[in-house]
Amino acid sequence: MTNIPRAGVIGNPISQSLSPKLHSYWLNRYGIKGEYTALHVTEDQLETTLRDLPNQGFIGANVTIPHKVSVMQFADKITDRATLIGAANTLIFKEDGRIFADNTDGYGFMANLRQGAPDWDPKAGPTAIFGAGGAARAIIVALADAGVPEIILANRTRAKAEALRSDFGARVRVVDWVQADQMLGDANTVINTTSLGMVGAQDFKVSLDELSPKAVVTDIVYNPLRTPFLIAAQERGCTTVDGLGMLLHQGVPGFERWFGQRPEVDDDTRAAVLS
Ligand code: NAP
Repeated sequence: MTNIPRAGVIGNPISQSLSPKLHSYWLNRYGIKGEYTALHVTEDQLETTLRDLPNQGFIGANVTIPHKVSVMQFADKITDRATLIGAANTLIFKEDGRIFADNTDGYGFMANLRQGAPDWDPKAGPTAIFGAGGAARAIIVALADAGVPEIILANRTRAKAEALRSDFGARVRVVDWVQADQMLGDANTVINTTSLGMVGAQDFKVSLDELSPKAVVTDIVYNPLRTPFLIAAQERGCTTVDGLGMLLHQGVPGFERWFGQRPEVDDDTRAAVLS
């Protein structure tokens, strides 16, 4: 066992994760003696891995697909936002063996939008969201917290959007996926949280003809960085923000808690992760 503090990211598959590059860059940048690694963990191995990691010097971990929901059952304390979202992506292992769970995806989303569009005002009008998966859930919790007056939601599987409406209340309005383009006219903020447009996935095909040039538009897909959705919004004159910053910012709270230094997300950080 090493004596230096260790953290890592738990997932399956895990080789695609950019988190080891991100946290290793920050450890190096701030001269911190620590280690951050990718941990390939199957569903069957999840509990034993979580119980064993502290014995190997781990002080915490990030959690990614497919464990963000199932990891909650092993946590001894869960933050309010992780409870609301129903999933965790950041764990802290206490010395007495207890596990604290948090979800920083919504924080990462908001910090990225505020950094990429400093004049953006979440309260200025409705937000239109494509998608109703796990990421959408985290983003809705963060937007509601920031005072967004209305969230208009379209998802291919309408029942999932309806489930979010029943969880998060009257502020959420659901529209049919085939009419998704019609939610854009009034929107102050427009977000793609589907995997459409990602390398290897289908194209994003909803028309942006109704989109106001005043809207701030963001895509949480970051591979490619400039998705066809963002390019089309930019061509309409919108301020656009790519999804890489969400990934970088969601790592900040965990790194700070584990290693005692609040890391910066700046151009150097982006370049390090993209290298
Ligand atoms: P998820 O829970 O699996 O949800 C996937 C969403 O995409 C659902 O709304 C799904 O609709 C929709 N979708 C998938 N294929 C579609 C298709 N062919 N047509 C229409 N809609 C389709 O995944 P997630 O965790 O929310 O992640 C969604 C995306 O965000 C992924 O690409 C992920 O890599 C990215 N992400 C980025 C960050 C970041 O830090 N930037 C963080 C988290 C996630 P149905 O409900 O109808 O299946």
